[in-house]
Amino acid sequence: MFQIEELCRIAGKENVACDELLSKHTTFRIGGRAKYFVSPLYIEDFVEAVAYIRKEKQPYFIFGNGSNLLAYDKGYDGVVLATHMPNREIEEAEGKVAMDALVFMPPGDIRRKQFSELESSGELSQKTFVFAGSGIMLSGMANRVGKKGLAGFEFASGIPGTLGGAVTMNAGAYGGEIKDRILGAMLLFPDGTRRYCHKDELELGYRTSLIQKDSLVVLWALFAFGEGDVSEIVQKMQELNARRKEKQPLQYGSAGSTFKRPEGHFAGKLIEDAGLRGFRVGDVMVSEKHCGFVVNVGDGTYDEARQVIEHVQKTVQEKFGVWLETEVKLVE
Ligand SMILES: Cc1cc2nc3c(=O)[nH]c(=O)nc-3n(C[C@H](O)[C@H](O)[C@H](O)COP(=O)(O)OP(=O)(O)OC[C@H]3O[C@@H](n4cnc5c(N)ncnc54)[C@H](O)[C@@H]3O)c2cc1C
Repeated sequence: MFQIEELCRIAGKENVACDELLSKHTTFRIGGRAKYFVSPLYIEDFVEAVAYIRKEKQPYFIFGNGSNLLAYDKGYDGVVLATHMPNREIEEAEGKVAMDALVFMPPGDIRRKQFSELESSGELSQKTFVFAGSGIMLSGMANRVGKKGLAGFEFASGIPGTLGGAVTMNAGAYGGEIKDRILGAMLLFPDGTRRYCHKDELELGYRTSLIQKDSLVVLWALFAFGEGDVSEIVQKMQELNARRKEKQPLQYGSAGSTFKRPEGHFAGKLIEDAGLRGFRVGDVMVSEKHCGFVVNVGDGTYDEARQVIEHVQKTVQEKFGVWLETEVKLVE
């Protein structure tokens, strides 16, 4: 029989909350209460928590930073397992790897040997490998990678998600994508087994992956970066983030681009051309600043967001014959 005490034992009592408001954990600032909200500090504890929840046949949902999610107002009647919790320090623990671990392995580092021969030969042999836990924020990872003089992760610095969410979504921006940089990831499969999968096995495509399709869990991922100039890297990140601030409605709640880019079009342009700039239901509206963003300007609800999204989809389909598929995921 499922017992919350057991999850408290596995994850630590202080990392388990009951009746937790999801609107506190989603960048859309929408979502009712989750029955349980569990955020283990260490990868081993996370795996054990998943195993226990599965054994007891409880519904569960994997949560990163909640930056691509729309949660129901009625909440979630199960366990939300979060890989990340803002503003907390994770202390080193014997034999345990933190959810937000970041380890640099320069050429010659003995720890690299555990990864495949292919990855330590040829061009890659000159690169620094970076091991990152799924709960680390992309912004923090990009800053630390950049300050170490490693180039190639600048594109990710302004994406407000975790590494696990980014691998799952194959997040990308300004010409860069997770797919271009990742070497592979350690995945947790539904039968409880763990396996390191080379990037070719991850089926990373435009905002899609094997992880989404098969409901897998990303525990950690491995990257390779070459050397760059620290000041150039930092400047590039600053420029990209300035572009975001200029173009995106960052003062409001949102889940970023609400719709995927349809082949041959831009979602924002289609929405604008359909006359939907500022289309509003309650406190949720199509952003005036960037039509590709549906924003929560106050106390928006799931139902309001759904109505705005469906109206946009229907109108764009009628006017231009293009169906806008949502990029945002439902917590269900
Ligand atoms: C202002 C703003 C700007 C944005 N800009 C961009 C952008 O430029 N490019 C871009 O690609 N996206 C962008 N996004 C969307 C979002 O930040 C990305 O999709 C991000 O990768 C989601 O990460 P997350 O940790 O928040 O995942 P969540 O939103 O918490 O989850 C997203 C999905 O991933 C799953 N998931 C999360 N972690 C794991 C894990 N460890 N294992 C398995 N499944 C997991 C969840 O179950 C869910 O299905 C933006 C969002 C906002 C709010």
